Formats: sequence, structure tokens, C-alpha cells
Amino acid sequence: MADCLFCQIASGAIPADIVHQDDDVVAFRDIDPQAPHHVLVIPRRHIEAVRDATGPEGEQLVGRLMAAAAAIATDLGLDERGYRLVSNTGVDGGQSVFHLHVHILGGRPMKWPPG
Ligand code: AMP
Repeated sequence: MADCLFCQIASGAIPADIVHQDDDVVAFRDIDPQAPHHVLVIPRRHIEAVRDATGPEGEQLVGRLMAAAAAIATDLGLDERGYRLVSNTGVDGGQSVFHLHVHILGGRPMKWPPG
């Protein structure tokens, strides 16, 4: 989508600190990190949020995103201490960029419940 920030990052039109990319998925460091490691994992294909990833294709895409997030967390050295994966959805979920993404947050203990 031409006016989508994350589509433009995925295409390379807007620069980002990319930590992983393949045919389906791009991962880059969050511009406003909330933890020592804060990476966003997005599908190249524009989907607004996880609720829109329906049907077999959507399920496959969400599976790819989660598997990529876990592999990137391993590469970042987060397996031993652990980390948090978050996908904010819609206004009450705190979503501010309406292109599906999974946050990887790690490098410090996380609190619960979230704000
Ligand atoms: P959310 O609020 O869950 O939709 O997450 C969107 C995230 O995108 C926020 O954590 C922002 O800090 C991050 N963000 C916004 N613009 C950029 C950018 N140009 N590069 C990297 N991260 C960004």
C-alpha cells in the first residue's frame, strides 16, 4: 500500500535498521525502543492486523511471522532469559501503525499486566 509506512520500509523506500529479511517477512529495530532489544517483524504483504489474517493463507502468514520472531529472538541471544512477543490490534490494543507486526521485546524483565 503506497501510503503505508511499513510497506515503504519493506520495499526499501524508507530506511530502517533491518535485522532480517526474506521473501515473506522483514524485521527491523523499533525507532522508539521500549527495551534493550525491540524489533518489529512484519509480513511483506499488507494486512492491517492479526484479525485480518484469515483463512489458510492468513494462518500460514501468522505462523511465518511467529516462527521468524522466534528465530530472530534466538539470533539476538534472548532464548536463555526470555522475551515477549506482542501484536497490538486496533485502537484499544494500542496499535499505531496499521500494518500487521509482532514486537519482539527483550533484554530486561517484562512486567505484567501491561499498561
Ligand atoms: P504499534 O503501536 O503496536 O502499532 O507499533 C508501531 C511501532 O512502530 C511503534 O513501536 C513505533 O515506535 C514503531 N515505528 C514507527 N515508525 C517507525 C520507523 N520509521 N521505523 C521503525 N519503527 C517505527
